[in-house]
Amino acid sequence: MFKDYFNALFGLIFPSLCYACRIQEPLKNHNFCLSCLESLPFVDSAEDSFAALAGKDFFPDSVENFWSLFYYTKDSDVAEMIHRIKYDGQFRIARYLGKLLAEKYLTKVDLSDYVIIPVPVHPKRRRERGFNQAEEIAKGFISVVQIPIITDHLIRSKNESSQTAKDKDSRSSVLGDSFILNPKKSKAFKNILLIDDVITTGSTIGACVNQLSLKKPDQIIVASLGISI
Ligand SMILES: [Zn+2]
Repeated sequence: MFKDYFNALFGLIFPSLCYACRIQEPLKNHNFCLSCLESLPFVDSAEDSFAALAGKDFFPDSVENFWSLFYYTKDSDVAEMIHRIKYDGQFRIARYLGKLLAEKYLTKVDLSDYVIIPVPVHPKRRRERGFNQAEEIAKGFISVVQIPIITDHLIRSKNESSQTAKDKDSRSSVLGDSFILNPKKSKAFKNILLIDDVITTGSTIGACVNQLSLKKPDQIIVASLGISI
């Protein structure tokens, strides 16, 4: 009761603003205002998500299903939101977008025998940031589709920021050994939904899939908030 009152009062003093423009008030039951809902570059369908992978040579062919919520370009509203998630600690945005992603695509798909594996960040980075953005997206997901989130199966063995390699090939080989299966966990999973924030070249997903495939799952599918175009 007191908490409800407090929340109402807090809302009056600090009305929440649209997650994208941060100017307008969001629509009821949304965190976006109407004009952002109409103008943000939402991907229309699973087919369009898949089509946007064209030319991303490091994205593994073995992944048969892929969904993205937004098209991603530099300096866009979507890039700005993802930046605020990662560098301003606004993980609530990640949860909200994860929920939208699940509502858009995943209520139509049977994921009952899947687990979610968020692309891991290095433990050092996780400590600095206080969270892993992919895991927060996954938490948004499971508010819609209740499947387990597994965070101790795949681990990041190198801190990404130590990479200075510029060309794609060496970047891929650097990433190739930056994820490993946790040697302390022997469990295998039948079907895996891998989640990342943004897919750019596909090399991160490629490196994760290489490792996850060692345990021979039936299916690995992928979802992300953004697909770069
Ligand atoms: Zn807005």
